[in-house]
Amino acid sequence: MTKLTVLMYHAITDSGGECSGADPHYAVTRSTFRTHLALVRDSGFLVSSVAGILASDVEGGKVAFTFDDGHESNAAAAADIVEHGGSADFFVNPATVGQRNYLDWQALGDLADQGISIQSHGDTHRYFDSLSEAEIEQELHVSKAQIEGKLARPVTLFAPPGGRMNVAVATIAKRLGYHGICSSRAGLWRVEASAWQIPRFAVLSSTGEGQFHRWIDQDNWEISRVMVRDRMLAGAKYLLGNRRYEQLRARILGSSHEVGTTP
Ligand SMILES: [Zn+2]
Repeated sequence: MTKLTVLMYHAITDSGGECSGADPHYAVTRSTFRTHLALVRDSGFLVSSVAGILASDVEGGKVAFTFDDGHESNAAAAADIVEHGGSADFFVNPATVGQRNYLDWQALGDLADQGISIQSHGDTHRYFDSLSEAEIEQELHVSKAQIEGKLARPVTLFAPPGGRMNVAVATIAKRLGYHGICSSRAGLWRVEASAWQIPRFAVLSSTGEGQFHRWIDQDNWEISRVMVRDRMLAGAKYLLGNRRYEQLRARILGSSHEVGTTP
């Protein structure tokens, strides 16, 4: 069975180390990002998008790159990926496209022309585990229709904001014509098993080069360690509820971000 590493990025910091409007905990520097691309290449893997993998063959060594939120800094990452001859999935919210600090439709269209896959992160970045089924359907439908209308390319993937999901999401997404869901759960993607809970490794400002290397090399011990930590955090989210979890997280990270702005 083919197992792939899928990476999840957010913002890329500028040369001054800034990423206006984005959570620095989730941001990496451009030089770090370029190092990641070089490590993937040097390990003999291709830089791919999840959409590309689902649409074609899964044979051969590939690492999938994904970006959530459509921060304006993602254009720099896309340029590096294209220069590298690769692709990636960018999950965007139509409600924030073109807003301050976010890529606009023109920029997203340019990226799509260069082979970057533009996908849905919902319409308004609300957490799906606190929405009714009608609201989930609305978010999935509006975001897909908007992106497809603006870019004239199919939207086949969804990534839930904050990784928050419930059991209804996959059923509704499937009915609306999606082909898969990229979750925020850590682990390797068993491609033949399911496209409705694709695990991703969150690349953070604190992610070390050695750790990154172990993710793409699929080191068993490292994968297990990250999965256990991830399940414990998911348990804390479940027990505390979204709001108290965000407050606890903000206190631990020293983040000034408001509740609901977690990527
Ligand atoms: Zn997000």
